[in-house]
Amino acid sequence: MKSIRTREQCPICQKQLEIYHNEENKKIVVKACPTGHYRKEIHPLLEGTFEYYTPKENERRNRS
Ligand SMILES: [Zn+2]
Repeated sequence: MKSIRTREQCPICQKQLEIYHNEENKKIVVKACPTGHYRKEIHPLLEGTFEYYTPKENERRNRS
């Protein structure tokens, strides 16, 4: 998949996020950590941004 680097960084590992365009819905822009920690979806039609963290990372933090 073609990806584009951004200046935004993953909040967990500080790597630069990459932009992915959703093939099924091209209006949605996805920015994601290349390692899969974090993912942000930008929905221009909803004027909203949704952020996701991998559940494993959150579980580790909550348990420790
Ligand atoms: Zn990361």
